[in-house]
Amino acid sequence: MLEIAINSLTALVAVGIPAWYIVKNSRQRKRASEKLAQAEERGLTEPVSLHPKIDLANCIQTGACVPSCPEGEILGIIDGRAAMVSPTKCIGHGACEAACPVEAIALVFGTERRGVELPFVKPTFETNVSGVYIAGELGGMGLIRNAVTQGREAIEFISESLTQKDSAVKDVIVVGAGPAGLAASLQAKKQGLNVVTVDQDDIGGTVLSYPRQKLVMTQPMEIPLYGRVKFREIIKEDLLELWHQVIDKTGLEVKTHEKVEEIERVNGHFKINTSKGEHLAQRVLLAIGRRGTPRKLGVPGEKTSKVAYRLLEPEQYRRKKVVVIGGGDSAIEAALALSEQKGTEVILSYRKGAFSRIKEKNEERIEQAIQLGKVRVAFESQVKEIKREHVVLSQNNKDAKVHNDYVFIMIGGVLPTQFLQNIGISIEKKFGER
Ligand SMILES: Cc1cc2nc3c(=O)[nH]c(=O)nc-3n(C[C@H](O)[C@H](O)[C@H](O)COP(=O)(O)OP(=O)(O)OC[C@H]3O[C@@H](n4cnc5c(N)ncnc54)[C@H](O)[C@@H]3O)c2cc1C
Repeated sequence: MLEIAINSLTALVAVGIPAWYIVKNSRQRKRASEKLAQAEERGLTEPVSLHPKIDLANCIQTGACVPSCPEGEILGIIDGRAAMVSPTKCIGHGACEAACPVEAIALVFGTERRGVELPFVKPTFETNVSGVYIAGELGGMGLIRNAVTQGREAIEFISESLTQKDSAVKDVIVVGAGPAGLAASLQAKKQGLNVVTVDQDDIGGTVLSYPRQKLVMTQPMEIPLYGRVKFREIIKEDLLELWHQVIDKTGLEVKTHEKVEEIERVNGHFKINTSKGEHLAQRVLLAIGRRGTPRKLGVPGEKTSKVAYRLLEPEQYRRKKVVVIGGGDSAIEAALALSEQKGTEVILSYRKGAFSRIKEKNEERIEQAIQLGKVRVAFESQVKEIKREHVVLSQNNKDAKVHNDYVFIMIGGVLPTQFLQNIGISIEKKFGER
């Protein structure tokens, strides 16, 4: 009797599990095809910057890449091969590359049609200018965890390259105190290097300019001299507080509000001219991000005091009429933060017909805010002029005057090309290459 029961159970497991697996797989594949069709219909087929390039000849359909992506369904299996099903939502985590057991995925910048400008950086993080290194978002890879990892790794290479000490100069100057610069400075301290860190602003980098209480999505990471931090979500203020705790614990010194203006080579080392004086160092690590200079709209009235390029205190805009311009995460998060203020009217103006490169969570939140009438989105619109009491918004070939108190322009940053070229660093345009 017992034997019959065991046999029946074994048969059930033997048939049931594969059947469940097949059904689950076929559902996932159908969903992937639908997602891709939707992306194609909306013209959202070009990844923004760093993204996976799949070698179809080598892909053996393990599907390991699909769940590895922290951003959700960016990849899927279509016609027996991995494919990007939401290409514009890829933000370059790179987890898929690591997850593929047959190395059929490589991360690349830009596409054949859409080039991305990047400074030349070797795998050792050194640029074409010997002794000058780049880490973090400036090198093309966004996200906090990537910046921290690169900052750490760059210092390891710098440390290896330093063959002799010179007590008259620092071993390394780290320019920028964002995630990459802070991690690099801590790593340098850990390795016993004589380091100086400067930032034109304050500690935290781009995180500092996120809207108040922004939920930061990240991955567990290793902070030198501090240890592993395991959270995946953290409020902006708590992340900044963490950096201050790390600095207090480690005694790292950061020279804030000191802008690096020029870097020149003098007698075999570097002379770094800043807004407050000069530093001498054997090596330079640039961790200055890509957002140093906010991209301008270039419309009349943009220089008036009602225009800003970052939102720090949404509370200041209670009961005001605000136009936010842009369609990326920064613009959407600002619009959402403003929409939560009592009596604030928010219009989000975006030149395209749909949001394309935003995080899934932001997409859900903005859709909800639109449905609740908290944010009005003017797709395919452009601000043509900014006046004291209104903006001129052009949509469907018609211009309308929109009564308005404040304008936030959040259309990304401009690569500090001139600064880099003055140092001698080459800028390359990548079309689907590493
Ligand atoms: C609105 C928004 C939301 C985001 N949300 C997330 C998120 O949820 N999760 C995530 O992982 N990533 C997020 N990111 C991306 C993340 O912030 C960046 O990838 C990360 O901060 C890059 O770190 P970094 O150290 O390379 O550069 P940055 O953080 O940009 O730091 C660069 C530093 O260099 C300084 N600097 C620049 N030029 C000079 C100079 N000449 N002299 C001295 N100092 C200089 C700047 O003041 C700045 O402090 C978001 C970005 C934005 C804009």
